Amino acid sequence: MPRYDFRCRSCGATFELRRPMAQANAPAVCPQGHQDTVKLLSTVAVTGAAGGAPQQAPSGGGCCGGGCCG
Ligand SMILES: [Zn+2]
Repeated sequence: MPRYDFRCRSCGATFELRRPMAQANAPAVCPQGHQDTVKLLSTVAVTGAAGGAPQQAPSGGGCCGGGCCG
């Protein structure tokens, strides 16, 4: 069963719940009893943000780059 992370906007606590995906968007109640909670995105696959993907250097430096053509 997937696990979802929530954050309470009333007290700032974060908590996690296990619930079926069908209830993923159902409102969650803070352990402190608050109902103003938001669901956090967990295990988001972000590619290219870290690690420094190799940048391909522009090849050439052709004629028109240097101003010799015009
Ligand atoms: Zn709370």
